[in-house]
This record gives sequence, C-alpha cells and structure tokens, in this order.
Amino acid sequence: MQRDCDQRDRWGQSAHNLGLLRTRLKQGLGLPARELDATLRIYCGMDQGRGPAVLVTGGAGYIGAHTAKALHSRGYTPVVYDNLSSGFRAAVQWGPLVEGDVADEERLVGVIGAHRVQAVIHFAGLIEVGRSVANPDLFWQVNVAATCSLLTAMRRCGVGRLVFSSSAAVYGQGGRGPMETIAEDAEKAPASPYGDTKHAAEWMIAAQCRAYGLTAVALRYFNAAGADPGGAIGEAHEPETHLIPLAISAALGDGKPLTVFGQDFDTPDGTCLRDYIHVTDLAAAHLAAVEAPFAPGVFEPLNLGTGHGRSVLEVVKAVERVAGRPARYSIGPRREGDPPSLVANPARAEKLLGWRAAHSSLDEIVADAMRWERGPRYGAGARQFRVRPRPSEVA
Ligand code: UDP
Repeated sequence: MQRDCDQRDRWGQSAHNLGLLRTRLKQGLGLPARELDATLRIYCGMDQGRGPAVLVTGGAGYIGAHTAKALHSRGYTPVVYDNLSSGFRAAVQWGPLVEGDVADEERLVGVIGAHRVQAVIHFAGLIEVGRSVANPDLFWQVNVAATCSLLTAMRRCGVGRLVFSSSAAVYGQGGRGPMETIAEDAEKAPASPYGDTKHAAEWMIAAQCRAYGLTAVALRYFNAAGADPGGAIGEAHEPETHLIPLAISAALGDGKPLTVFGQDFDTPDGTCLRDYIHVTDLAAAHLAAVEAPFAPGVFEPLNLGTGHGRSVLEVVKAVERVAGRPARYSIGPRREGDPPSLVANPARAEKLLGWRAAHSSLDEIVADAMRWERGPRYGAGARQFRVRPRPSEVA
C-alpha cells in the first residue's frame, strides 16, 4: 500500500531492541530497574519531553487519561484523540488534545503524520451494556467499523504497533464453573452486543496482524476501579452505574442507597464475584504492552486482573471500612445478564509483559476512588458529589 505519512516501521524493532537492551543491562550491570530506566530515558532524550508520540484514542476517558499520564511520566508524548462524547477536556493534562472521530480515516492520517505518531493505544468506544442491547447498530459502527478506519489509517502511515482496549465481556459466562478463573483461551460467549463488538474487533485486528505484519495486544480488562492517587483524574460516568462509585455515594453522599443485584448466586455469600483492578495498574499494563518486544505479525490477547474474586458485599464492607461509616443498601433482584463470577487468570500478562497488579487491594482501590469522589472532579459539567453530613455533624 502507498504510504501517506512520513513514517517508518521502526517502532516494533526499536521497542524490541529497547526490551533486549533493558534485559541485558539489567543482567550485565545488575542495576535496579528504576535506575536503569532513568538512564535509558536520559540516553534517549525522553526526559526532555522529546519522547516518541503515542496516539491515545479516547484519552479523555477514564482508563485513557490514566494511561496518558503513565505514558508522559515515562517520557512519551501522549497525543489524545477524542470526540469528547463521554470524555472530559479537563482529563487531558499530559499532551495535546485533538478533537476528532475515530471513524474519520483522513483526519487520523493527518494527525498521525503531523505528530509523527509511533504507536496507537485505542480506547475510544462505547461501553454501556444496556445501551448496546437497545442499539446494537451504533455499537457495531463505533466499536468495529471505526476501529477498521483506524487500522487503515495506521497502515497508510506505516504505524505497526497497536494496543487495543478489550474486555472480559468477550467471555460471558461461557462453560465455566461459578468459581473458575478465566484464561485467554477460555470459551468466548459474549452475553451482549457490547461483548460481541469487542470480540469482533479482536478478530479483525488479529487478521490484520497476520496479513500486514501489524503487532497488536488486546487487553481484556476485568473490573476497572479506583482513581489516580494524586486526585487529578478518575471515573466520571454519566449516569454512573458502577458498583464502587455507587457504594461510596451510598456511604458518604446524598445519593440513593445502593441496591445489591441479587444474593442468590452460587458464590460464597450469594452475591456476584468480580475481579477489581486499580486503574493505575491498568495504565501500567498499557505502557508495558506498548514496549513489549513482540515481533511483527503477533496478536496477543491478554487478561488484566488480579486473579482474586471479590463479592459485592465484600466491596460494600471495604467502603464502610474506609469511610468509617455504614453504607445504605438493600438486596434487590438480579440484574439481567450478570454472570455470577468473572475472575481473571492474569498469568499470561504477567509473564509476557513483566507486569503485575500492585495497587489493587480493595482498600487501596476504594480509598483512591473515595478521594476522587470527594474532590472537585472535573468541575463544571461533571457530576458533583456532595458529602452527606455524619449524624454527629447535624446540629
Ligand atoms: N452491582 C450491584 N449494584 C449496583 C451496581 C452493580 O450489585 O448498583 C453489582 C453487579 O451486579 C456486579 C458488580 O456489582 O456483580 C459489578 O458491577 P459493575 O456494574 O460495577 O461492573 P460489571 O461487572 O457489570 O462490569
């Protein structure tokens, strides 16, 4: 194919060489990893803000913004490409923001060329399961067709490295027992059009790896949670449907009491088990995936989780512990489509990326999420969280 941008296929080779250099130097010099990385960054000029540009589609969203921060702290220039349909301008703090749609192939070609983008992390997409049931066409357009436009733009520009936001939703309940952890080769049985579109996008990317020598990693997130410990960025969905923000609101805010969706599952306390992973751990995994020494043509789907399932009631107890006060909740009926248990086997990501969840205890997740929920968040336009006074504070 005719190239439209002034790019070379050097990323894969450079990332591979950098990985080798790191390993050899670590072995040969016995330097601690942190010191070695600092030396390499100075050597590469990345500490002076001249680092390679990485296009972060959806970088104004929850996981995208945390990943942009991680990229910047390692010396890359994150170029955020986002249509701000659900992301926040205020979340883009570590590099330029380009407003645009992923379906717009020509625009992408221009942006990739102008910023000399070397790799792409593709977060932009729709995530609400219920909405995907009501409007599957929209999800196929945004999550699959637009991803196809992005792949074409990358190929036209000779960008050969992609990290794709996938999801544990590709597994559904499959044929597993209720407490089994899930490895990457587990049966795929998406329970919603959302899961179908993530699975289909993975197939499409894998085929392009085989055909065109693209290198791609699909990161299948389990339950992303928590917030940046510095409080600058965090989760801000509208409407909020996720357990941890709602449980925090039930303990501290003036929000509604939490409804626990079912206590009749085949799990130890009857409530659903999920694998909650801190968003900063997810961001670190994206960085590792961008740099991993995978060869051209490799497509690698990897689970990101802790390997430990936590029940809804365990989450509520963690919120009460961290908040120092009870959370108001009641037990309601099951939510349609909720599998009893979704717990990752993260062994393959740990092995191939040299990565491991390091900040994902429930208490650390909840403490960081709570700090974010009580702060100014993204200011005007974002859902504001008002703290309900403790009974002792009411005159
Ligand atoms: N959940 C709940 N009440 C709520 C929201 C969620 O009991 O108001 C449960 C839900 O059934 C699931 C777990 O909390 O077992 C995590 O749900 P969430 O929506 O946060 O993430 P999901 O697992 O659906 O991606």
